[in-house]
Amino acid sequence: MYKKILLPIDLAHESSWSTAAPVASMLAKAGNGELHVLTVIPDLGLSIVGSYLPEGFEEKAVQDAEARLKSFLEAHAPAGVSVKGHVVRGTIYQEILHAADTLGCDLIVMASHRPELQDYLIGPNASQVVRHARQSVHIVRG
Ligand code: ADP
Repeated sequence: MYKKILLPIDLAHESSWSTAAPVASMLAKAGNGELHVLTVIPDLGLSIVGSYLPEGFEEKAVQDAEARLKSFLEAHAPAGVSVKGHVVRGTIYQEILHAADTLGCDLIVMASHRPELQDYLIGPNASQVVRHARQSVHIVRG
């Protein structure tokens, strides 16, 4: 069974966790493993948009996300499972792959795409993770 499970979630979209979180929790519980919940703040990098935002905008976004993830975990963390939250900044799929490696995860559980994007069988971040992850990936279809 899996000992360290990564659950990447987009806090702005309930569909990213509503079905995937129970699956990840159930697998963590079954293997007496840890659950790592990751939220990525997409990096604006050198984009032209970034130059119009106030100084410290991205740091503030990380702090807000940390507070929101903390509240999320207080409300949704499954009983009897060790749960840790992580907020990072960067390119979403790259940060998911990086976190899975650096945390030593053996499974990534994630939703396939937002329901409103029904044309996709799998979204852009989920497809990159499936393609490049060294770990097993459990894609939960919405
Ligand atoms: P869509 O564009 O339809 O949302 P994605 O591939 O981006 O498709 O989303 C699928 C999954 O990618 C989400 O359920 C979530 O697991 C992960 N994901 C998307 N955005 C983020 C984010 N900001 N932080 C962490 N994980 C994310």
